[in-house]
Amino acid sequence: MLAHDDHIALALSGGKDSLSLLNILVKLERRFPQSRLTAICVDEGIEGYRDEALFLAAKECTRLGIEQVTVSYKDLFGTTTDEIVKSNSDKTPCAYCGVLRRKAINKAASMVGATKIATAHNLDDEVQTVLLNILHGDPARLVRSAPVLRDMRGRFLTRIKPFYDTPEKEIALYAYLSGLEFQSLACPHSGEALRNDIRAFLNQMDQKHAGTKFTLQGSAERLRELLTENGHDVELNDCEKCGDPTPHRFCEACIMLETAFA
Ligand code: SF4
Ligand code: ZN
Repeated sequence: MLAHDDHIALALSGGKDSLSLLNILVKLERRFPQSRLTAICVDEGIEGYRDEALFLAAKECTRLGIEQVTVSYKDLFGTTTDEIVKSNSDKTPCAYCGVLRRKAINKAASMVGATKIATAHNLDDEVQTVLLNILHGDPARLVRSAPVLRDMRGRFLTRIKPFYDTPEKEIALYAYLSGLEFQSLACPHSGEALRNDIRAFLNQMDQKHAGTKFTLQGSAERLRELLTENGHDVELNDCEKCGDPTPHRFCEACIMLETAFA
């Protein structure tokens, strides 16, 4: 996933997963003098939720002596997740928020000159996404959720997920044992997500049939190989609005921002 001279941009939310990954990457990074680590925080504009997480993230970066950059939806896109939720948007808050966060992290990582983006998605997140993509009728998206996502055309920074096959419970244990102070408050908009139902279903399955999450992860890997072999990689154009690479005329974020307030 990493080279000795990488400049890693870590997406740091202030939750247990990203704070654990920060602590692990700091240990690794210190062994390689040519490497560099920058924490990227995103303020989505969710009142009563994000402030605490940003405070905890900044506190941990200061303790570890890590450079930290915060970007906000308000500055980048002129709106916030709260404002989008209040508008007549037809999608769930997470559908908008997730797309905008990806774009915000890409922008911040390019801004600091990073060579790779690391995110703290864990095994549980990953298998939930597999089922979500299938339920949304979009299995080709599996290609884009690989643990190491390299864009052969060089239009996107490589994204890595070091916790890709680490169960959420193990990360929680690491965070507790390391004495990390993390945000435990849930996002006020998360209750609407289909992901919550899938999470409950997978937890139930894994409890009843141990190893279900790992098996599903294995199936996704095989499907990803098949999809890649069959050339399910798309041509990219420049978004006619923001210039970012997209398979369509406009990128997902620009389409969403346009439709959210239509
Ligand atoms: Fe955004 Fe949804 Fe995450 Fe809340 S739960 S921060 S709305 S993606
Ligand atoms: Zn765009």
